[in-house]
Amino acid sequence: MTLPVDWSLEGTARRRDSYYAASQSKFVPFEKPMIFRKGSMQYLWDEAGKKYVDLLGMNVCVSVGHSHPVVVKAAADQAAELTHCTTMFYHPVPAHLAEELAATMPKGPKGDIEWVVHFTNSGSEAIDLAMVMARSYTGNLDLLALRNGYHGPTSAAQSITGIAAFRHPGMPGNVAFVAEPNQYRGIFGSGAQPYLDEIERTIAVATTGRVAGIFVESVQGYGGIVEMPPGYMSGAAERARAAGGLYIADEVQSGFGRTGDHMWGFEADGVIPDIVVMAKGIGNGFPLGAVVAQKRIAAPMAEKFMFHTYGANPTSCAAGRAVLQVLREEKLQQNAKQVGGALLERLNDLKQRHPVIGDVRGRGLMLAIEMVRDRKSKEPDPQTTAAVFEQCRESGLILSKSGPTRSTLRMVPPLCLAMEDVDKVADGLDRAFTNAN
Ligand code: PMP
Repeated sequence: MTLPVDWSLEGTARRRDSYYAASQSKFVPFEKPMIFRKGSMQYLWDEAGKKYVDLLGMNVCVSVGHSHPVVVKAAADQAAELTHCTTMFYHPVPAHLAEELAATMPKGPKGDIEWVVHFTNSGSEAIDLAMVMARSYTGNLDLLALRNGYHGPTSAAQSITGIAAFRHPGMPGNVAFVAEPNQYRGIFGSGAQPYLDEIERTIAVATTGRVAGIFVESVQGYGGIVEMPPGYMSGAAERARAAGGLYIADEVQSGFGRTGDHMWGFEADGVIPDIVVMAKGIGNGFPLGAVVAQKRIAAPMAEKFMFHTYGANPTSCAAGRAVLQVLREEKLQQNAKQVGGALLERLNDLKQRHPVIGDVRGRGLMLAIEMVRDRKSKEPDPQTTAAVFEQCRESGLILSKSGPTRSTLRMVPPLCLAMEDVDKVADGLDRAFTNAN
């Protein structure tokens, strides 16, 4: 018999205080508590039966749709047969998924680049492992990372996270930060070149001159959807390599077709990373992360012990295989391009009519609206952002407040968002902007 569940808000709030320290955090997104009871594709239902469009994709994890039947069946079948098999033993399901992920990676001009995959349970563990790999392979300690970037909550991942609010005291060192090439409010203006010059300067001034690598989110997610301008990713790779380091692409948010144009965000710039880190969308909600590395780079790892007890868990990996299958069969990358393009157009219309909107940006289904008190000064407007966010919630839209000043509304829905949702989203936002002013 399944154990009974108390679905009441009061009961959940009381219990939640005892299991979830973050319930005390000011970063809990909603002022009023929310309990989601059910999900199907791009929609969620709360405990009272109210329906929402999930523009947050449950934190970008739900790539192909909530409780997608193909993913649920694949995981349920695997769990019923053998839920877990430790990585000490060989299991064909993770082996298949590894082969399928490796096949999505660039082969290089000579077609001879080979990729290997190491599975983890989360994005930050994968980031952590990529840091170990980069340092082991290059023999260098110094890392470069971008301000305004986010790479996860483990202490290693925090050490390369460039948003103070996401860093706690005492994180490991040997990290130098470079300014992010934000085309709306970056400190060096627009284009890639000044930000590439900044990497060179930083290597010369703030490191030993030899680096292990640079970590770049192909599109900064928690930072408020900051795209890398053309030439930046390839230029950053060149500069890191010139100092003996690797280029590590963090695709935790931007991967799996989310940007609409490509499977991986780094492909927009033609750069071939040395290591690619992924999580979230790979499992459609099942806990799974992966480091996909060029074979030569991963080789030194075999000299030492390295395994994650739940890494390569067959149930999560069965879900991962189903995700790749659904992405392909339902043409979700193309859908992200089409529906995301239509939504972006509507957001740009809103910008014409609501002066509080300073910037609209993104591509595919990775979009954002940044709110400002005044378009000239670009002073962030977290109050209006919070008001719009709460009103959208009332009208059935789940968004996310992002960016260091929490003045950006981020839209990263399941990739099955439909054309008929676009009107509901744009109209809901329109009403919220009108009421918030
Ligand atoms: N990298 C990026 C770009 C992320 O957005 C996140 C999570 N939000 C992580 C890494 C860390 O992933 P996880 O929370 O699964 O550890």
